Amino acid sequence: MQFRDLQKQYQSLKPQMDEAIARVLSSGSFIQGSPVKELESQLSDYVGVSHCVTCANGTDALRLALMAWNVGPGDAVFVPDFTFFASAEVVAAQGATPVFVDVDPATFNIDPLDLERKVQQTIMEGSLKAKAIIAVDLFGLPAYYMPIREIADIYGLLVLEDAAQGFGGAIGDARACSFGDIAATSFFPAKPLGCYGDGGAVFTRNPEWADLIRSYCVHGKGQEKYDNVRIGTNSRLDTLQAAILQVKMNAFPSELQAVNAVATRYTEQLSSVVECPKVPESFLSSWAQYTIRLQSQSQRDALQAALRESGIPSMVYYPRPMHLQAAFAHMQLSDDCCPNSAQLSHQVLSLPMHPYLTTEEVDLVAAKVKAFLAK
Ligand SMILES: *Cc1c(COP(=O)(O)O)cnc(C)c1O
Repeated sequence: MQFRDLQKQYQSLKPQMDEAIARVLSSGSFIQGSPVKELESQLSDYVGVSHCVTCANGTDALRLALMAWNVGPGDAVFVPDFTFFASAEVVAAQGATPVFVDVDPATFNIDPLDLERKVQQTIMEGSLKAKAIIAVDLFGLPAYYMPIREIADIYGLLVLEDAAQGFGGAIGDARACSFGDIAATSFFPAKPLGCYGDGGAVFTRNPEWADLIRSYCVHGKGQEKYDNVRIGTNSRLDTLQAAILQVKMNAFPSELQAVNAVATRYTEQLSSVVECPKVPESFLSSWAQYTIRLQSQSQRDALQAALRESGIPSMVYYPRPMHLQAAFAHMQLSDDCCPNSAQLSHQVLSLPMHPYLTTEEVDLVAAKVKAFLAK
C-alpha cells in the first residue's frame, strides 16, 4: 500500500497523459507554450477568481504575493504555528517577521481568537507594523475565513491564503484559492492537484497585483521582453507541467469525490476509538491528509510502528512546530506561544489518503488502527 499512490493515478490517466506530453515535446515550446495560458484560464474558472498566474512552485507563489504587497523589514505577518515550513519561511525571506499564531486542535487551522490576541500584542508593542495574515488551508480544509476576514478588516491587514494543500476545498459555494486577497497553491506531486515536478499558482481578483506578479515572476519584466522595470525572479511553470495539469484537472472533480468517500469511511470506522479530523458544517476538504490525533507521543509512535509492521505507511505532519524550528531559534520562543500546536506535533498521525485507495485498503488500515488501540 502506498501513502499517496501517484502510479495508480498515472495508470488511470495514461492515454490522455502520454498524448499531452507527446504534444508538448513535438511543439518544441517548453517555456510559456499555449498550455500555460489555457491552464491559467481553466484554473481561474474552477476557483471563481478572475486572475491566475502560474509559477515555479508553491513557495514562490506565496513569496510573489508578499512581493506584490511590498512586505519587508519592519512588517509583521501572522502565520499559523502548525504548518509546513514554507508558510513562515517566505515571510522571513522577505526580511519581514513571522508572528506565530496557535491553531484550533479540532481543525488544525489558525485559531481566530489567538490571531486577534497576537495582532493586538504586536500593535501594542509597536516595534513592527502589522501587515498581513497568512491563513493556511491545512490538510485540505479551508481555514475559518469569516472571523479571519473580520479581524483583517478591523486592523487593516491583508489576507494571503496558503492553499498549497487546499486546492479543491470549499466553504459553501466558494472554492479554496478564492478566500484570500491573494491565494497561493502548489502543484508538488503529492498535493491534491499535483504535477510531475514542481509547480505553483497565484490567484487574485485584483488586476494590479496580478500584473505585478506576472512581472515579478519573469525578472521584473515591463512591456517588452528585455525591458526590466523591477527586480524580480525567474519563476515560471513549464509548458510540460501545464499540459500534465490540464489532464489532471479533467480528473480532479471525480478524484475530489473519491477522497471524500475515503475520509467518510475512515471516520465511520475510527471516530469511536480515536480523534478524527473535523470538517465544520458547510466546509469541504480536499483531503491532502487524513490526520488522526492520539493521546501521547509514545502512543502515536507505537501505532506508527505497528502499522509499518503490517506494511501500512503513515506520516507525521508535522513533528516540529514553527516556534521550535532551528531557523527561528533567535526568536527565543517556547511552547507557551502556541500550546495547541506544540501538543499536536506529539499527537498527530496521517494515514494513507488518495483517490485510488480501495474500500478494502481503507478497511484494512482502519482495522489495524482499531486493533492497536484495543490493546
Ligand atoms: C507544500 C506547501 C508549500 C510549498 O509548496 P512547494 O510547491 O513545495 O514550494 C507551502 N505551504 C504549505 C502549507 C505546503 O504544504
